[in-house]
Amino acid sequence: MDNCIFCKIAAGTIPSKKVYEDEDLIVFHDIQPAAPVHLLIVPREHLPTLAECTDKHQALLGKMMLLAPKLAQELGGGYELTADGPAGGFRALVNTGPDGGQEVYHLHLHVMGGPRPWRGQH
Ligand code: 5GP
Ligand code: ZN
Repeated sequence: MDNCIFCKIAAGTIPSKKVYEDEDLIVFHDIQPAAPVHLLIVPREHLPTLAECTDKHQALLGKMMLLAPKLAQELGGGYELTADGPAGGFRALVNTGPDGGQEVYHLHLHVMGGPRPWRGQH
């Protein structure tokens, strides 16, 4: 798509802080991070929203979801089960449409993790 910022990032015509890429996906840091680790997992294919995905995107969506914990782990926002119980962790979130707070109409999975001291211990 000509006017899509994430297509341009995927094509390399707009710079980003890239952390991962393969034939299907590109992952980079959100320009306005809402957490210490805030990644966007973005398919190379221009799909406007999650609601436009169909059965043929099942594997792609699964790949995006499964990549989230791996990258969170690598970048310091991971989850683990310790002797004292669950520790760390992240949110994986897809905003969809105006009421879902979507601003960029190219499908992306937010991965937000890392300690967030300003939110207290909850
Ligand atoms: P949405 O609200 O559509 O779910 O989220 C879009 C996200 O993309 C926002 O968190 C915003 O900060 C991020 N974003 C928008 N433009 C750019 C950009 O040019 N580069 C990067 N890295 N992130 C962007
Ligand atoms: Zn696009």
